[in-house]
Amino acid sequence: MSNSEWKSVGNGHLEGPFPLPDLDPSKLTVTLSETLKPLPAPETLVFGGMMTDHMLVASFDPVSGWSAPEIKPYGPFTLDPASSCFQYATNTFEGMKAYVGPDGAPRLFRPAKNMARLARSAERLALPPFNTDALLELIKKLVVVDQRYIPNMEGYSLYIRPTIIGTRSALGVSASDHALLYVILSPTGPYFRTGPKPISLLAAAENVRAWPGGTGSHKVAGNYAPGFLPQRIAAKQGYDQILWLLQDADRWKVTEAGAMNVFIVVNREDGDLDLITPPLDGTILPGVTRDSILSLAKAHTAGKLTLSGISTNQRLHPHERAFTIADMSLWLSEGKLREMFAVGTAAVVAPVGRVGFQEDLKKPARDLVLPAYEGGLGPVSRAVRQMIIDIQEGRVEWEGWCVRCE
Ligand SMILES: *Cc1c(COP(=O)(O)O)cnc(C)c1O
Repeated sequence: MSNSEWKSVGNGHLEGPFPLPDLDPSKLTVTLSETLKPLPAPETLVFGGMMTDHMLVASFDPVSGWSAPEIKPYGPFTLDPASSCFQYATNTFEGMKAYVGPDGAPRLFRPAKNMARLARSAERLALPPFNTDALLELIKKLVVVDQRYIPNMEGYSLYIRPTIIGTRSALGVSASDHALLYVILSPTGPYFRTGPKPISLLAAAENVRAWPGGTGSHKVAGNYAPGFLPQRIAAKQGYDQILWLLQDADRWKVTEAGAMNVFIVVNREDGDLDLITPPLDGTILPGVTRDSILSLAKAHTAGKLTLSGISTNQRLHPHERAFTIADMSLWLSEGKLREMFAVGTAAVVAPVGRVGFQEDLKKPARDLVLPAYEGGLGPVSRAVRQMIIDIQEGRVEWEGWCVRCE
């Protein structure tokens, strides 16, 4: 392909004959590290605190497309200081985990969902498209290379961080036509070392994470940095995380907690339970854990599986429906609000014990106190958490959710 087949579309961009070479696993080169790090003692692992020995890297430019992917020793990049990612946050990432099954083989949990979400995030930032099946195949190969880092113990896994950054080295405020795709791995232990402990959330009027028409439903880096200051302010007031709100007339809709989706469990008149999470209206990140919990609750009620600790005739009705702080306050006072929990790949399920609501920022937060349960988790959060972990670690087979890395 000669450059003459390309035409300039302004701002340094070229538009040329497509398709450009895509990400191609058959072109993978593997260079193993000569010095492997000593394995950390499992009990010393801090989430995201250390990386493994290798990483996967591929780059994109608008003339040659995706480069041959490489697995190579983990190490720093050299990037132009004018790169788009440093100036305009053309950065997107994913979070997924590899688990080991009873046979010692590494497995991924519903990984196609992460690949599809990364492709959507990249598109939202006008970063180049890539073949999602090819990336998944490459990630499986990387996990196998560093699989010695996954302790064969319940609750341990390898956190996988696929990342795409814009590397166009020019300051013009426009899309990055150059990109770097890389995947790094970090061994991780249980989120709660001493068993699930209810977390506290601060729901303050100023804490808005995402809004209609914004980027809240994409895992783009620009969504996260603005949350760090509110998080620090909440920590100073004694709360673990932020409960992100969105104002709707004079009411405050609950959206997400920290970087996790949220669920509440509400008693119904007929003795059944409603399991409610906010709808995917563009302000909510479509979490894989969220989707899995909705499916498992539905399957339990349909009699297709039994969630441990929940009787087969206890019906759970999953709903994707907005609810407000006022709803929570009312249902609590009526004794109907049974559980609240936050969900995501890192923690799987984290019970919520207390929500501080601060509508008037000059006054201290008023606490909504959720029912307390022995061992931290209520019956529904305990059951869905255990089922997801059993599927992830290969003890229970469910709808092909657990995918082996061969
Ligand atoms: C990643 C993320 C989640 C959880 O998604 P999972 O796919 O379940 O890990 C929820 N909310 C936000 C804002 C996130 O970034």
